[in-house]
Amino acid sequence: MRVRILLEGQVFILQTLHASHQGIVQTNALARSCVWWSDLDKDVEQIVQQCEICQATCHAPPKALNHPLECTKQPWTRLYVGFAGLDQGQVFFVVVG
Ligand SMILES: [Zn+2]
Repeated sequence: MRVRILLEGQVFILQTLHASHQGIVQTNALARSCVWWSDLDKDVEQIVQQCEICQATCHAPPKALNHPLECTKQPWTRLYVGFAGLDQGQVFFVVVG
């Protein structure tokens, strides 16, 4: 097993990149956008794998992104369709335009 010794500056950079606990993929993407050294990917992977916070959340499903809808310019361009509650044994099919 090969032991890597990081420079003090590399440790600081890794800790800074990892401060938001984004996991291996996101932290590597951020790292590649601003720094480089050989085995940077492995160093990021190692720091994330040793982090309890990242390990506790790495299997959580990703958060859904908000996709705000743009306003339509004409009526009935976009329809919302669904079923509304059970009222006295009836379910209503609702269409909103
Ligand atoms: Zn972490």
